[in-house]
Amino acid sequence: MEIKTDFLVIGSGIGGLSFALKASELGDVVIVTKKEDSESNTNYAQGGIASVMAKDDSFELHVEDTLKAGDGLCNPEVVRRVVETGPGCIEELIQIGVRFTRKRGKEGEFDMGLEGGHSKNRVVHAADLTGREVENSLLSAVKAKKNVKILEDHIALDLITQHHLKGYRRKPEEKTKCWGAYVLDKEKKQVLTCLSKITLLATGGAGRVYIHTTNPSIATGDGLAMAYRAGAEVANLEFIQFHPTALYHDKGDSFLISEAVRGEGGILRLKSGESFMEKYHPRRELAPRDVVARAIDHELKKRGESCVYLDITHLDQKFIKLRFPNIYGKCLSLGLDITKDWIPVVPAAHYICGGVVTDLEGGTGIENLYACGEVACTGMHGANRLASNSLLEAVAFAHFSAASARSALSSMKDFSFPPIPSWSLEGVFDQQEWVIISHNRDWIQKFMWDYVGIVRSNRRLEQARRRISILLDEITEFYKINPVTYDVIELRNITTVAKLIIECALKRKESRGLHYNIDYPDKDDKNWLKDTVLQSEKE
Ligand SMILES: Cc1cc2nc3c(=O)[nH]c(=O)nc-3n(C[C@H](O)[C@H](O)[C@H](O)COP(=O)(O)OP(=O)(O)OC[C@H]3O[C@@H](n4cnc5c(N)ncnc54)[C@H](O)[C@@H]3O)c2cc1C
Repeated sequence: MEIKTDFLVIGSGIGGLSFALKASELGDVVIVTKKEDSESNTNYAQGGIASVMAKDDSFELHVEDTLKAGDGLCNPEVVRRVVETGPGCIEELIQIGVRFTRKRGKEGEFDMGLEGGHSKNRVVHAADLTGREVENSLLSAVKAKKNVKILEDHIALDLITQHHLKGYRRKPEEKTKCWGAYVLDKEKKQVLTCLSKITLLATGGAGRVYIHTTNPSIATGDGLAMAYRAGAEVANLEFIQFHPTALYHDKGDSFLISEAVRGEGGILRLKSGESFMEKYHPRRELAPRDVVARAIDHELKKRGESCVYLDITHLDQKFIKLRFPNIYGKCLSLGLDITKDWIPVVPAAHYICGGVVTDLEGGTGIENLYACGEVACTGMHGANRLASNSLLEAVAFAHFSAASARSALSSMKDFSFPPIPSWSLEGVFDQQEWVIISHNRDWIQKFMWDYVGIVRSNRRLEQARRRISILLDEITEFYKINPVTYDVIELRNITTVAKLIIECALKRKESRGLHYNIDYPDKDDKNWLKDTVLQSEKE
């Protein structure tokens, strides 16, 4: 089956929906999303959106804080543009119905949160459920548009480019063009040819490459892998932000134990009861996130243990229940009473700073393909993301991309699609060896955690490269001769992204921002004040 549209948006988080809303003013929009429409990283964002709204704040300060966190690798032009666009984006979100928390008794004034790395209170939030509020409001606004169609349970598997045309031979210097994507309809088990004049990748992050992650199950790096396979540049994938404390429990999948628990006096302990943060930083549990994550990782690797513990049992029981109702409730539902029991925690992959390289308008190296949100590498985050800058970046780049797409679309008046073949099922037969999928997925996630996690070394990275390369060849082979399913599509993408993370980590011969390699423990500004860029070779 074939669908033709002006805009194909892949992903229904903050990036995809914000773009779709604006694009609907220009033409017809189809959004494909792999689960139900609201399931996204966006939906789980707690803290809020960083933006200069307070009287004592300024764009200069926000830019300065962002550049400092980015450790030399942000693009200052991008940072300034995003920061200056922030207040307008917040206003637009309010216009579509987002209810940000206001100060009590001070009608109209936002309650601005303070987060690590920000020199001012500048995080607008909707209690501690900002993401859900934004996601729901955007979905309602998008659903009110008659020319926007949302296809749930549809997974994009590859971008359509001229490489899919029969008999195509690449001419030197020819730019790759994108005409949409092949998309699997989960229910009908059918691959659709979704043809579009403009395509936006807004597929979010890749936390599921790791065994411990705060990301929901959709975060398998699909957009990154698809763009790389299509020939786009990807960059800076070594910079993965690990949150120090996610709940370690087989039923507590991806549940975050907020930094505020340490802020209120929580103590990190080993299984033996011994505290350890005093060995790593004078601020102990309140050291910067990456320091705490590295310290926990070091203790776990040294002892071969699976988790450490966060102890707040010395705090008043009533206070705990009042201050952390959500965490208390979640843990209790798993049989843990945090007023009496220590909370088992591990660091967890939280955010990927790198992604598909874009220009200032969100355009990628592929014609008519844009990227925004966590899948993109815009130059905003550099080597480390400043807290709550990611929702801001996603919404700002959705805005830039839509503006650029307007002129791209108007120059396509006499446009017609080339003869794109349907998804080929030739040579496909079901080998009935599906156990390979779940086994390999588990293995990669554990392996990436142990070999390409918070603290890296050349030896482990080299071993990782060898093993993942073999696995990727096997999975690609499996992919070619078996029917496409969600599981096999995601496994192929997870393995591809794992390989790309390893390649970027091996390229960078220094430690900077979120990338730490014991063989190059120092920063090397002379040689490495630059991005690590990868591109596949297309025939
Ligand atoms: C627990 C948690 C808390 C966070 N807190 C904050 C915070 O307070 N402030 C902040 O700024 N950031 C926060 N972040 C980060 C932020 O939420 C994300 O970076 C941001 O929401 C990403 O938005 P996005 O639109 O790029 O992707 P997402 O919101 O992840 O949406 C991706 C969409 O793409 C779809 N998709 C993926 N692959 C495919 C495919 N192959 N085919 C079709 N559809 C596909 C998914 O189903 C989903 O709809 C947090 C993240 C987590 C996990």
